[in-house]
Formats: sequence, C-alpha cells, structure tokens
Amino acid sequence: MSPESKRVVSRFSHLGAAAMLLVLANSLAAQEQPQRLMGFTAERAAEQLRWERVMAAVPDTATMREYHYAMTRAPHHAGTEENYRLAVYLRDLWDGFGFETEMVRYDILVPWPVDLRLRLVYPDTVELAVTEPPIPEDPDSYVEGGLPGMAAYVASGRAEGDVIYVNYGRISDYRLLDDMGVSLEGKIVLVRYGGTPGQMRGMKVREAAKRGAAGVVIYSDPEDDGYVRGDIYPNGRWRPWEGIQRGSFLDVPIYPGDPLTPFVPSIPGVERIPFEEAENVQKIPVQPISYGEALKILEHIGGDAVPTEWQGGLPLTYHLGPGPARIEIDVEYDYQERPVWNVFGKVVGAVEPEKFVLAGGHRDSWVLGARDPTSGAVSLLETARGVAAAVAAGFEPRRSIVFGSWGGEDFFLLGSTEWGEQFADELKENMVVYINRESYTSGNWSAGGNHSLEAFVIETSKDAPHPEAPTLFDAWQGQQPGEPLRLDALGSGSDYTVFLDHLGVPSLNVGYESANGIYHSLYDTYHYYQRFGDPGYRYGVAQADMVGRMVMRLANAEVLPFDFTSASAVIAGYVDELMALDEGGLLRDELRAIGAANAAMRVAATETNGVLNRLLTGGSALTDQNRPALDRVNALIMRAEREMIDERGLWRRPWYRNLVYAPGYYEGYAAKTLPGVREPMEDGAWDVARTQAGMLVEALERVTSALTEAGAAGRAASARVIS
Ligand SMILES: [Zn+2]
Repeated sequence: MSPESKRVVSRFSHLGAAAMLLVLANSLAAQEQPQRLMGFTAERAAEQLRWERVMAAVPDTATMREYHYAMTRAPHHAGTEENYRLAVYLRDLWDGFGFETEMVRYDILVPWPVDLRLRLVYPDTVELAVTEPPIPEDPDSYVEGGLPGMAAYVASGRAEGDVIYVNYGRISDYRLLDDMGVSLEGKIVLVRYGGTPGQMRGMKVREAAKRGAAGVVIYSDPEDDGYVRGDIYPNGRWRPWEGIQRGSFLDVPIYPGDPLTPFVPSIPGVERIPFEEAENVQKIPVQPISYGEALKILEHIGGDAVPTEWQGGLPLTYHLGPGPARIEIDVEYDYQERPVWNVFGKVVGAVEPEKFVLAGGHRDSWVLGARDPTSGAVSLLETARGVAAAVAAGFEPRRSIVFGSWGGEDFFLLGSTEWGEQFADELKENMVVYINRESYTSGNWSAGGNHSLEAFVIETSKDAPHPEAPTLFDAWQGQQPGEPLRLDALGSGSDYTVFLDHLGVPSLNVGYESANGIYHSLYDTYHYYQRFGDPGYRYGVAQADMVGRMVMRLANAEVLPFDFTSASAVIAGYVDELMALDEGGLLRDELRAIGAANAAMRVAATETNGVLNRLLTGGSALTDQNRPALDRVNALIMRAEREMIDERGLWRRPWYRNLVYAPGYYEGYAAKTLPGVREPMEDGAWDVARTQAGMLVEALERVTSALTEAGAAGRAASARVIS
C-alpha cells in the first residue's frame, strides 16, 4: 500500500459519519416548509435538499489545506513526471471515495525551453533577466526544476531590432499606430500584458507579426498588477519587481489544443500536420520579462511621448520609439510530443447512466501553481468528497456525475481539447453540462455560462453558503445592488472551450476571484496563498458547497433545469447591439430576421416552461409509465442548446462552431456574442455577415423546434399523469 492510498483509507472513514449526518439532516428537514427546485417535484425537491446537506457537511479547511500542500510541492507543468504523479494522486483519492476511475493519455506537441536570452544591445549592453530570484520570506520560492520566464508556442531563433512600445497591443492600439503611419517592420515590439477587453497574450503577438515585427518582448506593468495597485509580495499581494508572467502564446481563437492535430485527437495513429502548417503557432520569437527589466529598456526609448492612456506605472515618461534602444532576443525551444494526462472519477447514475454532468478543472501549472490551478482543484476535491459522502449514505443520482482533472491547460487547453475531439459524438449525445472550476481566491463571486442556465445558477445560489453573508445569493446581489443577476457570456481562457464552442455542450465557469500579482509566476505558492489567496479556505469551502449543489441538481433533476426564456432575452439584447453597429442599414433585413427567430424561440420556450412546470407540480412526474416521456423531454432540452452549433463554423476559424458564444478573434479571452455576424460586421465583411446571419436564423429555428417538441412530449406525459 502506497503512502497515498493509506491516506485515502483514512479519508474514506470520514464517509462513515455520513449516515449519522443523514439522520440529522432528516430531522432538520421535517421542520421546514416545502421548497421548490427547478426541475424537481416538491416531494423530490425536499429529498434532494436532504442529500445536499449531507454533501455540504463535508468540505472543511483542514482537508483543503492538506490537499493543497500535497499538490504544490514540486513544479508540475505539462509533460512532467510530477504532473503524472499528481494525476495518480487524484485517481487514488477518487478510488478511495468509491468512484469509478480512469486515466486517459494524449501525446501532444509541447515546447520546453532550452536557452532563453534577452539583451539590450544599444545604447549599452545589458543582459536582461528571464528568471525570478527566490524570496527569503517564502521557502517554496527556492524550488528547483520550474520553468523560467518562457513563452509557449513561439518561434525559436534570434531577432534584433529597434524597440517600439505598443501599450497593451490590443487591436485598437495597433490600429492607432497604423493610423499614425508608424511601421513595425523589423522592429522589436515592447508590449504590456492585460488591457480591456480581456485579451489573450497570443493575439498581441499575432498582430505585431502581421505588421512585420521581428520579435516581441512582453512584461507586466506595475499599473496593472504591481506596486501601483498596492504592496508587493512578500509584503502584499501585488507583483514584485522581479515577477514574470509566463504563458502560452497559442493563437487560441484559431483553434486550441495540440497545434498538430486540429479537429482530431492526439492519439497513436492520428496523422500530425507539419509544424510549419500549424496556424496557431506564433512565427516570431517572444520573451516575457518583469517590469524591473522592462524599465531598463523603457529608459532608452526615444521618439514622441506616448498618448496619455498608454502611459504605464513605471517612474518615467513612456516614449513610443522606435529606438534608439535596441534589443536582441535569442531563444531556443525543444518541441516534442509529451504525455498529457486527464483523470476522471465517476459516480454511475441510477436511471440514465450514460448521461453525465462533468465538473472539472486543470492540474498542470507553470511552476508550483498554488492559485493557478491548484486552489480550484482542491476546492473541487472537497466537492467530490462531499458528493461521495452523499452517495455512501444512499444518494442515487438519476444521471452520472464525473469529476475530471485536465493536463496541459496552461499551454493552452491541451488535455480537455483533445478529449473533447476524441469523444465528440458521445459528448454531444450524453454530456449534460460542463462545470469548470480552476483557480480561485477569496473575493467576488463570478459566474459565466450559457444563459439558459442563468435561472438555475441564481436559484442554486440561494441555498449555498457564503463566508460573509447569509447566502451566496445575498453576497452576489450585494456586489451589484439594484441590478438583476446575470451570467457573463463565456469567451475562452479555460477548459470549457472545447465543450461550449466546438461541441455545443452548455458550460459554466463559476467561482470566487480577486486580482493578484503572482499570476503565472514563481511566486504563486502555498505560502502566498495562505496569506493572500484564501486564508483559512473559507471561500474555498463555500465554493465546494455551491459546485456540489449544482452538480447534484443537474445530475438528479427529473426535468433538466434549463430556461430558454433567459437565453432569448439576452440574445434580444445582442441583436439590438448589432442593429446599432449597422449604421448604414446594410444588414437591416437579416438582423430583423434574427430578431424574429429569437422572438419565436421565446414564445416556444415560455410555452414549454409552462407545460413542464405543470408536469412537475401535477404530482407524480416520476411514475414509471412516464419515464420514457420524461427521457424524451430531457433529450430534447439537451438538444436545444446543441442546435446553436453549425458545423460550417465561424468566419476565419471553422473549429469554432457556436453561433452565440465565441472568444473574440482579436481578444482570445473576452467573448464575442453572435460572433458569426458581429465580427464580419466590425471588419466590414458584409457578405460573410449576411451568410452567417442566415446560419444563425436557421440555428434559432432548430432550437425553437426542439423546444416545441419538448413541450409536446411534456404534454403527453402530463396527460398520462392525469388519466
Ligand atoms: Zn489556470
């Protein structure tokens, strides 16, 4: 017996207490008013809430801390032995919880750095640091074997040129330079991370390369996450002078995952495309640095002072260049196929075992990754331990519940994308919802996802705890007094991407968050987390509870708790935005047609909601004779969201197929809604917009017919209940 599995056995003994908790939960429930839950009859709702209380009694601070410590002892980026070891660690824990477990391997092209050099060559020769020093106050920062300040999926090679400063490198920044007639040809671009709307670092490089830049140097400006925001680590939560943000520069809006296997999984026997043809790999060298090192470059940039909004937080006036500062980048990466592991633990459903709810998040990190992603991984482990306790006490979910841990997210969504591509048909058919849970910190509640799940998430938050408020719902409302609660539209940036954007599986990305200055750096450590992440894990425990409730409800609802009237209301708002964009009225008829199709969807959704509500309040929705009709209702509800997919895909990037949500082509993280129509409109490609508008109308009509059929199936079931 390995030391790990011994720990598992002792953990499993916690579950023995579950039966007692159930007795307690039952006696408490007896004093309560009956409560309605979306998708449940009143009777089943009461039972559901009792099982949730068994789950909710489990997550605790001490266990979270123990898991967190164990999972942040050594660097565990994609392809490493330690990453594999942690996969086995999770599998053994889940075995101990009584889950069915599975590990799945992909062999994916992953670059590891061989030699990274950055040098100021004019006016002085200065070697610039691409690694971070340890901090005496943080013992974990002395760890060895972590990745230096690297850029994944960029070209190896040497580039030299005069430096030009481009602010955040957003499309608006580059277009301003274009308008000013500033050429980037042969230059080294100095760009800062961040900016709004949420832009993935790869897009900053793509646009620089498109304009002829020879290389890119990227840094975190103190205005964005350093001393301008507050005290720096180790005294505060913000980025120190030496902190470097590593990252992947994969061109994600083109496609995520293994660059050599778009659309198909990285498994033996699948042909890889030649490296030179991989459209999502950057074609110029890139080097990330700290703001301490960036200052040494900025001091020597001349030319005009930058526009006011381009000025950052370092103590000098920023200039545009080009030059006279001159830089040499010389980087070499070893691109190899490396093993990337996903791990799953499953509770098999009692009625529809093939249907499943998946709650997952990634395991790999850049160095120790205490916040990103391990905080989320351990909170999710506590959810899993809670669900296991409910199952041990007799909870038998209608559908299966799967917990997942992805490998290689930070290099960009490697493990989840390849898995989604391998099992596309099965997932389209059977995966009810994906709930993504990675990095979190104590702070505001943040929730993004498909708007058909908005009412469900809000309702569930009324039963979930919060460290500072009576319920999560109260705290969430307190963040935005007087405004209706909403889910944010999802773009990309984590492992929901393949499910939502490629397969049409409804997805949620929820959790607590606050800004920090250790993102993707050596200083994202267990030590940092105890002081500035979530001291005492109070938010982590609360989050484990909320996620547990969502998973258990989605797995056990008699009727799946989707509400397409919210989706329709939100889409109507998007259509209004497009109308405002269409100043010349070039797309007036097409946009009206989208509006009409969406209004028809709303009518169908309202009517179907009514039918399904009557079914659930009419008494015995769950009788055996009704089961086939209910299964049909649920299958149609699942189909509705998938109908937003069009296999022809979006303009410039056919891997993205969801016509309602996509990461922006120029943003990478931030969502563009109704992207098929909106993006060509923004770029003046009116014929493309017209074609995509037609596709969107067809998709909305397909959703409407799925909802109408669901209503008819529900009516048939109600008739049987009454007769
Ligand atoms: Zn992450």
